[in-house]
Amino acid sequence: MIIILKPEATPNEIDSLRTSMLERGFVVQDIKGESTHMLGLAGDTSGLSQEVFARYEFVESVMKVQEPYKLASRRFKPDDTVIEVRGHKLGGDNFAVIAGPCSVESEEQILSIAKDVKLSGAGFLRGGAFKPRTSPYAFHGLGLDGLELLKIARLKTGLPIVTELLSPHHLREFAEDVDIIQIGARNMQNFSLLTEVGKLGKPVLLKRGLSSTLDELLMAAEYLMANGSDQIILCERGIRTFETATRNTLDLSAIPVLQRKTHLPVIVDPSHGTGYWHLVEPLSLAAVAVGANGLIIEVHNQPKCALCDGQQSITPEVFHSLMKKIDAVRTALTSN
Ligand code: PEP
Ligand code: MN
Repeated sequence: MIIILKPEATPNEIDSLRTSMLERGFVVQDIKGESTHMLGLAGDTSGLSQEVFARYEFVESVMKVQEPYKLASRRFKPDDTVIEVRGHKLGGDNFAVIAGPCSVESEEQILSIAKDVKLSGAGFLRGGAFKPRTSPYAFHGLGLDGLELLKIARLKTGLPIVTELLSPHHLREFAEDVDIIQIGARNMQNFSLLTEVGKLGKPVLLKRGLSSTLDELLMAAEYLMANGSDQIILCERGIRTFETATRNTLDLSAIPVLQRKTHLPVIVDPSHGTGYWHLVEPLSLAAVAVGANGLIIEVHNQPKCALCDGQQSITPEVFHSLMKKIDAVRTALTSN
């Protein structure tokens, strides 16, 4: 952190600030130009708010050099984090696809889709048991019954299950039964929920908020990590812009940007990111090409009858063909 002082700052004032920073455990260095005087602070400044300096009238401005997140930062941990659940890996060189319906609707539905996506090469099964819906009258998922159906699907296919936790009321059930706990876009900044989920120490899929910056996403990950979780997957799922042709605007630049800033794996959700099934394939392939560590895709055996997000769900057949194209893009990227 660099503190830029006003030209009229007196030696006494500068000394008092220097002493206060030394007392907080920072190394303080004077940086003097012809007409400028700055103080450089070395040490872990992630917990030091810039507002602290507002009460020093002789401080002109403050520049943060270090990111406000630490545990999520690549500076702190240079090597890629790899998430491993039941022998299935995601992160680093381990590209993986999470696939399944938006919501679990029945045993027959989830079993049929789980078997199909597994055959096509998916590494994880998704399915909402608790659904965050804009309308209070819409289908909100089967709740704990949905979780039981996901467990049956896991038993039959061996695929680890990924499902969204909406409320701290179900922390115990999720801690026991869910392999990767999803925190949805609407809860990305629900800090009390993040704190409680972090304490479980389980893998978490953290989706980017509808209007969140990448630094805000990383700070949400930092909440989970500061509370004890070190297995976090970040997910770009589209953000709100002025564009109405798609449900959201899928920000593919987020992937390489995040991968420079963090060691955590970054995946893409082209289903919520676009809102239309026919856009899922092109955007999946584009996500692979920009280096995503994985994808999360909504697949439904009868999209027209889906209780949630049928318009953006692809059929198992389309998923099968997409997985082959994903393989081809990945091979093209790695061959000389
Ligand atoms: C979902 O994955 O079903 C979902 C609701 O996603 P998001 O939180 O990104 O809207
Ligand atoms: Mn959905």
